[in-house]
Amino acid sequence: MNRAVFLDRDGTIIKDMGHINDVKDIVFYNYTFDCLKELQKDFLLFIITNQPGVSKGIIRVTSLKRIHTYILHKMGDHGIDIKEIYCCTHRKEDNCLCRKPNTFFIDSAKDKFSIDLENSFVIGDHPSDIELAIKIKANGIFVLTGHGQKHFRELNFQQRQKIRICSNLKSATQTILKSINNGTLHGQYG
Ligand SMILES: [Mg+2]
Ligand SMILES: [Zn+2]
Repeated sequence: MNRAVFLDRDGTIIKDMGHINDVKDIVFYNYTFDCLKELQKDFLLFIITNQPGVSKGIIRVTSLKRIHTYILHKMGDHGIDIKEIYCCTHRKEDNCLCRKPNTFFIDSAKDKFSIDLENSFVIGDHPSDIELAIKIKANGIFVLTGHGQKHFRELNFQQRQKIRICSNLKSATQTILKSINNGTLHGQYG
C-alpha cells in the first residue's frame, strides 16, 4: 500500500490569482518545490482542484490544459513526480461526482495506485478540502495561505478537532515529516 498527499492547487501550491487562463499568472510559493521534494520521499503526490470557472465559461479548456501541462513541467524540472492532476470543471449546481468534497477522484486514485488513505493527507485552504479529508478518513491539513484566513472561521468545531491547521505548505510539510519520524502518523489526526 502507498501513502499519498492530495494537494489543493490554488492557495496551496500556487498563489490564488482567481481564474487563471494564462501560465504567466501561475506563481509558485517559494517553498513549494522543496516541500514536494521532501514529501515525495514518503508519499505519492497528487493535485486535486475544483475549477468551476471552466463550466462558467471563464476559463478555457485549452488554457486549463496548458496550465496543467506547465505545472507538471515545472514539477519535473525540480525532479518532482506528480502522479495525476485531478480537476473538476463543474459548478456546484451541476451536482457532479468529482467536485471536492466528493470522493470520486480519490476513489479512483485509491484503486489505481493502491493508496492507504488512513495514512495519507489532504492539504488545502478551503473547508471543502477538509471535508474531503474527513470523508475519506485521511489526515486533513488546513493551510492559511490563499483563502485560508478568510475561510478559517467556516470550519466547524468537529472539523477543527479532526485536522491540523498550518500557516502554509511549508509548516504542513514539517508537521507531516515530524509525524512520520515520531511514528505517530496513524490515528494522530482522529
Ligand atoms: Mg484552494
Ligand atoms: Zn465535477
